[in-house]
Amino acid sequence: IYILAIESSCDDTSAAVMCNTTRLSNVVATQKIHEEYGGVVPELASRAHQQNIVPVVHQALDKANIDKKQLSAIAFTRGPGLMGSLLVGTSFAKSMALGLQIPLIEVNHMQAHILAHFIEEEGSESPSFPFLALTISGGHTQVVLVKDYLDMEVLGETLDDAVGEAFDKSAKILGLPYPGGPLVDKYARLGNPDAFQFPKPKVEGLNFSFSGLKTSVLYFIQRERKKDPDFVETHLNDICASIQKTIVNILMDKLKAAVKQTGITQVAIGGGVSANSGIRKALQEAEEDYGWKTYIPKFEYCTDNAAMIGIVGYLKYRMGDFSDQSITARARYVIG
Ligand code: ATP
Ligand code: FE
Repeated sequence: IYILAIESSCDDTSAAVMCNTTRLSNVVATQKIHEEYGGVVPELASRAHQQNIVPVVHQALDKANIDKKQLSAIAFTRGPGLMGSLLVGTSFAKSMALGLQIPLIEVNHMQAHILAHFIEEEGSESPSFPFLALTISGGHTQVVLVKDYLDMEVLGETLDDAVGEAFDKSAKILGLPYPGGPLVDKYARLGNPDAFQFPKPKVEGLNFSFSGLKTSVLYFIQRERKKDPDFVETHLNDICASIQKTIVNILMDKLKAAVKQTGITQVAIGGGVSANSGIRKALQEAEEDYGWKTYIPKFEYCTDNAAMIGIVGYLKYRMGDFSDQSITARARYVIG
C-alpha cells in the first residue's frame, strides 16, 4: 500500500510517501517568514502553504520514486490547527484524490503526533497497548491514555499556554529569536539548572498550567535587569537551564501522577518539545529509577511532518476508514 500524506496545520508544509508502515520520503518546507514577526502569522502561513504545496508533493513522490498512479490513498491533516493553513492541505488532498479516483483519509494531527511511534525503522520499537502518551507541542500539552490505535482518551491537558509556548515566550523575554524553544535547550545544556528558582503551578489532577511560569520569568528578568543591565547576557546559560528544569519537572510530576493513577508504565512522548534534551534525559532516568519503559521519537518525527500523518493514513486504510468529498477542515478537533 502506498499512501501520500499531506500536513499543513501550522507553518510547515510537508508531504510524505509511506509504503505500509515504512516511510519512503518525508519532505518538510519550513516557513522562514514568521521569524521576523516573532510568531506565526496565520495569513502569511496560508499563503506560503499555497506556494509550497505543489513542489513539496512533487519532491516527496520523486524521493520515494513513486508515480502518483501507484498511490492507494491520500491522507491529510484535517485539524486541529490554523484554519487558513488547514484549508490548503485539505483542498489539495481532496482534489488530488478526486483526480486519481482513490480514497481520501482524514487525520487528526494530535493523534498523528502519538502514532508516529508506529513508523517502522531499523532499531525502532513501538509501544504496545495500553500506553500513556505525553504530547508536548507548540499548541498542546496533553497526557493521553492510548487504548488502541484510534481509541484514545485525554486524561489531562493545559489550562492555558502549551509547553512549547512556555519555551518560546520565555525565550522572547530573553531576547532570543522565534521559535526560541530549541535555543533555550541549546543554552540550557551549558548552564546550571539550580542557579535560579521559578515556582511550579498548583493544578489539580493531571492538568497543566504554564502561563504563571512565563509571568514569573518576566518579573524576575525585569527585577534583575534593574540591578544589572547585562544580567541576561552574563547569565543566559544558567537562566535557560533553570527555566528548562522547571518545565521538565512540571511535566514529569504529572507523568508520575498519571502512571500512579493508571498503573501503566509504558510512556511515549510526541510533539515538537519532545526534541528537548531535558525531557529526553528525564525520561531515560525514569526508566532506571522507576522501571518505566519509555519511547522517544526520532527528531524527524518530533516536529510537524507528514510521515506521522501517513502512518495514521495507513492504519485507517487497513480498517477501510475513508472520508468523502464533503469533508471540511476543523481548527478545533479533539481526540477521542
Ligand atoms: P500542535 O502540534 O500543537 O498543533 P505545532 O505543530 O505548532 O503545535 P510542533 O511543531 O509539534 O508544534 O512543535 C513546535 C514547538 O516545539 C515550538 O514551540 C518549539 O519551540 C518547540 N521545540 C522544538 N524543539 C525544541 C527543543 N529542543 N526544546 C524545547 N522546545 C522545542
Ligand atoms: Fe504539531
